[in-house]
Amino acid sequence: MKKTIRDNYRIEITPDTWALGRKGQQDHNAMQRLLADIERAVQRHVNGVEQVVSLWDTHEECSHCGCVWEVLTADDVARGGLLPDEHSVEGEPVCCEAAVNEFRAERGIPPLADPGVIA
Ligand SMILES: [Zn+2]
Repeated sequence: MKKTIRDNYRIEITPDTWALGRKGQQDHNAMQRLLADIERAVQRHVNGVEQVVSLWDTHEECSHCGCVWEVLTADDVARGGLLPDEHSVEGEPVCCEAAVNEFRAERGIPPLADPGVIA
């Protein structure tokens, strides 16, 4: 018989970021300072708290097009079929021409001959 166990009780606090504005909300250091201020305030004013931990999610996206960061795998390169061209290597981004050419320039690989193969 299935039995439901409840444990690891905790409270999640969502900071009010309105005062930081859009730019501040995208500034990791500003957000960490805000969370640290809230941690101190909780520890100073709230009874029954053992620990306060600040957490955040991390996502990787392309700085050029904003798409989720995805790269060619060793299997992609070995299969070959959908590669932009013969110069593609493992680790090459797949989202946009700017990302591909930036990656290639850093490694001395020729740029895309036909940028139209990338969305
Ligand atoms: Zn991109």
